[in-house]
Amino acid sequence: MVKGTASLGKRQKRSHMTCRRCGKVAFSIHAKYCVACSFGRSSRMREYKWNDKKP
Ligand SMILES: [Zn+2]
Repeated sequence: MVKGTASLGKRQKRSHMTCRRCGKVAFSIHAKYCVACSFGRSSRMREYKWNDKKP
């Protein structure tokens, strides 16, 4: 099992596509929801306190 540069060449499948709401490539094609903003799973934005940027 190799995890480095050699195996990266075999990664051809797209697991995520561009999200319609947040614009990130985080919309899971398989699960049909966005892992970055929860679009498709929840109508509310995915946001957490621990993810806040410090002022
Ligand atoms: Zn999103």
